[in-house]
Amino acid sequence: MNITDPIFHDEAKAERHIFLSRWPDGEPTCPHCGSTRTRVMGGKTQAGMFLCNDCRDKFTVRTGTVMERSHVPLHKWLLATHLLAASKKGMSAKQMERMLGVTYKTAWFLCHRIREAMDGALGDGPLGGPNTVVEADETYVGGKAKNRATRKPAAKKAVVALVEREGHVRSFHVANVNAKHVRGLIVTNVDRASHLMTDESMVYTRVGREFAGHSVVNHSAKEYVTTGGFKHSNTAENFFSVLKRGVIGTYHHMSEAHLGRYCREFDLRYNTRQMDDGSRAAVILKGMEGKRLTYRRIDKLAA
Ligand SMILES: [Zn+2]
Repeated sequence: MNITDPIFHDEAKAERHIFLSRWPDGEPTCPHCGSTRTRVMGGKTQAGMFLCNDCRDKFTVRTGTVMERSHVPLHKWLLATHLLAASKKGMSAKQMERMLGVTYKTAWFLCHRIREAMDGALGDGPLGGPNTVVEADETYVGGKAKNRATRKPAAKKAVVALVEREGHVRSFHVANVNAKHVRGLIVTNVDRASHLMTDESMVYTRVGREFAGHSVVNHSAKEYVTTGGFKHSNTAENFFSVLKRGVIGTYHHMSEAHLGRYCREFDLRYNTRQMDDGSRAAVILKGMEGKRLTYRRIDKLAA
């Protein structure tokens, strides 16, 4: 699939595509009550509407997804999703504005709702497990003083990543990198049967004892060689390098309130790196279900 596909230009085909993503067997389920006793409504003003025979409420393919209450046509939703899925370093709202022909505010909000859809789109079970290495590492993004003559440079923001070797990543913005916060993240996201791999930072010392094993990487090439390549945090570092290229090249300045959502975006692309762009976009589209993100809520977060 590429951007010449009709679903990105034809509203009826876009609607059908979303319909089949939600209800692959062609039988819609009422998002209000879960009933399968539904019917397509007739009449021009009710195009795309279904009526539930049980709760008597109406719904569309958007109801109960992040697309609900959006006035953006469905083919633009699909195009925006595909563009974010296909762009290795992400895409700025400014570029999305130009490519979709919508206002900046619309593009910005659209992108954030798509990031919300990425959250947990691949499931949210624990990382790692027996005989599995999970690297935990932290980095700092943003905060460049360049091109900011009138404002003080923003402080660098910490991101902690938990990465399975040859597997999935989960990254988080952490306001304060301290033992308490970091332990909370690790124990809720990593199976305790895993072998934890961290740097020598004290924040990992105690939590390390709660795992099947804990190795501390001293950043020297010599140790990497003597342990047969086992003690390293290269997987986390590779993830961070993509994240940082995205921050520098695409998003420039991620506001602290939304940094967690950008983390979801880079996680999702990393975790689906084996997939083609169309399959990755399909995962995101499926993730739109059962989620809401209202402008009021996102605006409050930004304030
Ligand atoms: Zn119903």
